[in-house]
Amino acid sequence: ATGEDHVLIGRDLTKVFGGFAAVKHVNLAVRRGSIHALIGPNGAGKTTCFNLLTKTLQPTGGQIIFDGEDISKLRTAEVAKRGLVRSFQISATFPNLTALENVRVALQSKFGAAYHFWRSLRAVAPLNARAEELLDQVGLADNRHTTAAELSYGKKRALEIATTLALEPRVMLLDEPTAGMGHEDIEPITQLIKRAAEGRTVLLVEHNLSVVSTLCDTITVLQHGEILAEGSYEDVSNNPDVVTAYMGG
Ligand code: ADP
Repeated sequence: ATGEDHVLIGRDLTKVFGGFAAVKHVNLAVRRGSIHALIGPNGAGKTTCFNLLTKTLQPTGGQIIFDGEDISKLRTAEVAKRGLVRSFQISATFPNLTALENVRVALQSKFGAAYHFWRSLRAVAPLNARAEELLDQVGLADNRHTTAAELSYGKKRALEIATTLALEPRVMLLDEPTAGMGHEDIEPITQLIKRAAEGRTVLLVEHNLSVVSTLCDTITVLQHGEILAEGSYEDVSNNPDVVTAYMGG
């Protein structure tokens, strides 16, 4: 893995919880411009691995390299400023604000200083225009004056993606974007992620294998805290070890 081709690299990552190693010496590299999924049976270490790469958890051992820079010792907010942004966490939505207001808050947090400059000039228009553009991009143009609380579950997740995009991530990290969704919401959110991935890199944890096969060009399969297989969906789904792992063998 090189810093040229790979925007995010985990080297020899280990995480121990009170004597139990949830992630063991994992080497994982996310190619620039790819949509990369972490999959595996329950307890495989996906969330832990994801949390290490997103700097939500400190590793017990190993390094995390983002765009050639060692970010192992940086905090979530510091890596977010550099363009490594995790959705559904940093960009939590405010239930009583409208969709438009939520996106505007996210834009303000990103462009804080510039925003005050604009406001002092009584020119909030650029901020509103950008917020409307982002809502349009995630299919929420008609819901811009609806409060987040009143949006359907699927549309709430779409709004969270819009607020994440407001932070202009170069790498967007999604933790189970389709979790808890009914069939009718899964297809639109999948297409939305595909569009949102244009011009950037996406790393996601995802249980739904049909979503993974539609979206992802690289898949890392974890089991017992280690990498079991890696490659395209076709590669990993034809790997006998992966089949056995999913059958609970
Ligand atoms: P996955 O996301 O693949 O289901 P996790 O990364 O959540 O797996 O968990 C991997 C293992 O680490 C599990 O056995 C889990 O119980 C354990 N684990 C995860 N987080 C903690 C924690 N904070 N404290 C102790 N054990 C944990």
